[in-house]
Amino acid sequence: MKKSESSFTSLLDSYKISLQIAGSRAGSLKKSLGFFILSYTLLGASFSCFYPLLEALYALDVVQTWKWILLMAGVGFLSLVTRWLGHEFDYSGEIVEITHELRMKLGKKLRHMPLETMYRHQTGELNSVFASNVDESVLHLGVVASLFFEILLVPFSVILITFFIDWRMALTMLLVLPLALPLYHWKRRASIEEKRDFTEGNARLESDLIEYVQGLPVLRSINQVGVNAKRLQESTALVKEIQKRGVLSSTLPMILMSTLVEMTMILALTLGIFWVLDGSFTIPKLAAMLVITARLTEPLSIFLAVASVFDLMASAFKRIQSVLETKEMHYTPPLQSPLQFEIAFEGVSFAYNHKPELALKEVSFRIPPRSLVAIVGASGSGKTTLTKMIMRYADPKEGSVKIGGIDIRSMSQEELMRQLSVVFQDVYLFDDTILNNIRMGRPEASDEEVRSAARSAFCHEFIDRLPQGYDTPIGDIGGSLSGGERQRLSIARAILKDSPIIMLDEPTAALDTESEVAVQKAIDSLIRDKTVIVIAHRLSTIAGADKILVMEEGRLIEEGRHHELLEQRGRYARLWEAQSRTKAWHLSSNVSNL
Ligand code: ADP
Ligand code: MG
Repeated sequence: MKKSESSFTSLLDSYKISLQIAGSRAGSLKKSLGFFILSYTLLGASFSCFYPLLEALYALDVVQTWKWILLMAGVGFLSLVTRWLGHEFDYSGEIVEITHELRMKLGKKLRHMPLETMYRHQTGELNSVFASNVDESVLHLGVVASLFFEILLVPFSVILITFFIDWRMALTMLLVLPLALPLYHWKRRASIEEKRDFTEGNARLESDLIEYVQGLPVLRSINQVGVNAKRLQESTALVKEIQKRGVLSSTLPMILMSTLVEMTMILALTLGIFWVLDGSFTIPKLAAMLVITARLTEPLSIFLAVASVFDLMASAFKRIQSVLETKEMHYTPPLQSPLQFEIAFEGVSFAYNHKPELALKEVSFRIPPRSLVAIVGASGSGKTTLTKMIMRYADPKEGSVKIGGIDIRSMSQEELMRQLSVVFQDVYLFDDTILNNIRMGRPEASDEEVRSAARSAFCHEFIDRLPQGYDTPIGDIGGSLSGGERQRLSIARAILKDSPIIMLDEPTAALDTESEVAVQKAIDSLIRDKTVIVIAHRLSTIAGADKILVMEEGRLIEEGRHHELLEQRGRYARLWEAQSRTKAWHLSSNVSNL
């Protein structure tokens, strides 16, 4: 009896998964399942009234006929009432609450997920977990549960009662089971595999699509649209393949199942006729049996389909769970706030997830408060990774990062973010007005404060030229802002935020000279009196820094002022010479300022 054991466990699993999906509403779900069980057992009992009813009718016994009709109607009515009570679960908004609860849990998870983990999930993947997977796993919970019990319990209670009428007939009806179970397992295995492949394929398709659309402008400009288009085509083809396989492997058992049900009915009818002919069965019983089984065939033949809807729910839920199970950022209590803003790296080693080599190797340095520190080094030497450590993009494998003497793991996310402003090359602008885009730096700032920050960041003149000035929606002009203008917007944000630490990643690298002058002026007003970390390719712009950190292959190899490093005649001196030779100097006024 291994088979029935395992189908019992898979039913039990389904039950457990349903309760997990229902989360804090599991109690209501249980209650509604209880009502469904009652309802469908009663429905089976009401069907079974056909046996005595038809017998009484055949005998033209008016009193008995009415008695059974009334009983049948009464039991049927009770079944209806309990079913309604069970469906309360759907109608009373529980389902919506569960969806909401799951999304809140996911949202909370995302807030406390280290950025590194978040970036590892593709945007499309998280998107489909948030949107479709939540709906898939929850919306049909009530209906599926109801159908499930209808299909299982109505035949069960009919067959049980038939045993008391005629055990041979009951056994014949039961014949369907030993044959149906392997079908059920076959189908279930096939559909679990298919659904998993399908959800994965679909998530890949979704994220490829998002990447395709997002990347389109850039890819067009470098004539590389083909690459992403090819990926998109591949993932579309993959989904098609999976669906084709799925249709085959899921249709076949379903057709076999309904054939099986039909065959059983014909067998029962044939045997019934024989038994009537040899006098061991009655015509009214046979008629009743036919009426009842006719009502069972349809739900039985859709059983496999319902089971696979459930599998869809389960696999969608599994993907939600895998997000919910990712490790959260750990905070070391007690949470503290720094009083001054010296930044210290103490023996920091770090490797990106799934990468064996270290991106940072035992890096130690100190940045005194209100000083300007520049990080230089070849591409890939770990400059950006250093700044990511300060933002707690991920935690170091060894060592610690401290601000004002406090390990950043002992700061709340909000506290840490309050200390930092970051100006990167690619500036993210929201679909809102210019005014509100700058206000993001400090949401409670007044319009006048926002304007004043914009003036300090030299945004004023280009904003004034816009059709609606500060109230111009970004959506209308987003594409027409130059790189330098977008950067000045992000500097205005940082000025408004007025955080004690500012990080600039190659802020002027991608700009033409004229924009660079404007951006440089904006930066000058941003970094006054701050602790500043700037990553720069052009050494000319950082000759005035209080300290220069030279990175090479994840190690901090030199550290000091410009002239000190030149005297050391090491890596920095060589970089400097190389740049002096190849680069035309930017002798504009900005140079000496940084
Ligand atoms: P830099 O800013 O100096 O150019 P990075 O800090 O960006 O260098 O990179 C340092 C090293 O870490 C490089 O070898 C790079 O390939 C690797 N790296 C950077 N970002 C990631 C990432 N998200 N996942 C895995 N490896 C990364
Ligand atoms: Mg970098």
